Amino acid sequence: MTLGEAAEELVRLGTDFHRRGWMLGTSGNLSTVMSREPLRVAITASSIDKGRMNPRQILEVDGNGKMLQGVEGRPSAETLLHLEVIRSTGAGAVMHTHSVWTTVLSDFHHGQGGFGIEGYEMLKGLEGIQTHEHREWIPVVENSQDMAALALKAHALLAEHPKTHGLLVRRHGMYTWGKDLATAARHVEILEFLMEAVGRRQMMEPT
Ligand SMILES: [Zn+2]
Repeated sequence: MTLGEAAEELVRLGTDFHRRGWMLGTSGNLSTVMSREPLRVAITASSIDKGRMNPRQILEVDGNGKMLQGVEGRPSAETLLHLEVIRSTGAGAVMHTHSVWTTVLSDFHHGQGGFGIEGYEMLKGLEGIQTHEHREWIPVVENSQDMAALALKAHALLAEHPKTHGLLVRRHGMYTWGKDLATAARHVEILEFLMEAVGRRQMMEPT
């Protein structure tokens, strides 16, 4: 995949996620693996308005987050977390959103280290899940501005929960991923749906 091809896809997804309220203002970032050996990743630049994205704001970084190619902006500090997820899970794309429901649920369930989602038909939209009887554990990690520390915590959580499809950062948002861009984007839709369903259900009958 070339940087131009990756940029076109990431701008399309970012614009769509902004419209749906999952990446408002400058929040969130999206990445996709361009090559593995050596690792080359296309990622949205730091602090760009997701409602006005353009392909010049998609950058190419190496496995350490160093920028190799790009016209506008610099890599976000959150690039380190994207690289950690790619290494830990073998993902081909990583999506980081800041929706209301992931923010609220990450706060509410932080004390338990996460929460389970089970019994919902929409779980079948997650890669490898064949039945609504699945229980998906969503880990929650405390927020930090120290991205290296946050990446270390994410590394430990993903080793502990290797089958999870996403993780939340407290009062911040969600990271999800997939084997390719289409799968990762689908996981955003499925998990955002599930988070809203779980959150609304809890408001009817608080636990
Ligand atoms: Zn963020």
